[in-house]
Amino acid sequence: MKTVLISIFTIFLTTSAMAEDSLILQSVGTHKDSANYHAWLDSPLHPTSILPKLANLDPKKTCEDLHALPEDQLSIFRDALEIDTKLHCKDVLLDKTNTYFQYKKELLKWRSSYSHETQKPFSSTTPRKFTQEHSFGPSREQNVNTTGGPIFISGDLNYKEVAITFDDGPHGTLTPELLDILKSENLQVTFFSVGRNVKKYPAIVNQINEDRHSLGNHSWSHPNMRKLKHRSSVNQIESTFQQIQQEMDFYIPFFRFPYGNYTSKLKTYLKRNDISSFFWNIDTLDWKYSDPEFLLDYALEQVEKTEGGIVLFHDVQPQTIAIMPAFLQTLKNNGYKPVVYRTQSERN
Ligand SMILES: [Zn+2]
Repeated sequence: MKTVLISIFTIFLTTSAMAEDSLILQSVGTHKDSANYHAWLDSPLHPTSILPKLANLDPKKTCEDLHALPEDQLSIFRDALEIDTKLHCKDVLLDKTNTYFQYKKELLKWRSSYSHETQKPFSSTTPRKFTQEHSFGPSREQNVNTTGGPIFISGDLNYKEVAITFDDGPHGTLTPELLDILKSENLQVTFFSVGRNVKKYPAIVNQINEDRHSLGNHSWSHPNMRKLKHRSSVNQIESTFQQIQQEMDFYIPFFRFPYGNYTSKLKTYLKRNDISSFFWNIDTLDWKYSDPEFLLDYALEQVEKTEGGIVLFHDVQPQTIAIMPAFLQTLKNNGYKPVVYRTQSERN
């Protein structure tokens, strides 16, 4: 009886707290508690679902609620704010997040340049040599024979090698910023881009190619392929390869499932078509950790745990771009070596 009463009381407390929280705060809570990226993007409380409605219903209160958020939480609403033009506070809020990321970039630049002695994620026994004058790249080229569609999870790499991958782009401003950072590190990486973004940003796709990165396929519109009809998933894959081919005159038969969600039928399709699929063994959770300082520590810890492999990032997240110079420099200082996947079976 006592347990039942406690449970009822807990439910009452939870529901009354939920009722008091604004939708904005509930959205922040959902972002924090989402078990994975798909659960977050699919949530009815995702900013792109709630912000247009709130902006219509009560723009004044919505702006107040957004203003009250700390900057790292406000940044969750960035993309939705950019799309929604109705809120009068839009420009001020976007400026606020830009200033925040700018400040964090400067802070991390300073940290990676001068305070490597006190960096947290690596133990004091790890020898650390400061070599900023040298770049992290060039990346070792790992040739993939895609015949039979081999699958990569930790990447077939040597000890302390990392293959850094960026998903979901290109993004109109963040991907060019990332390309500049990669160029200054003379580093080549593997992108898994979304077909509809490839179509939207052909110049960025060409820059990715010119800078000698590899560009793979991450579906047309990032659906959960477990919920899709097999034929629709195949269309998602084929139309993206066609779009890449249209922009670059060839495509590399590399594919990554959105959210890593596959079906056995799709795996068979990839094998039969000699398309390699790539998963990852180092998840940085960069969609979740929007404070760059926290993300940097977390990402470095994940690399150190596995001592190398395929690292998952998203080039559509501002915090990811913000940590990149410090992340790459710290990997270099700690003896990691970069790898980029290539194939001899580029098709056209
Ligand atoms: Zn993705």
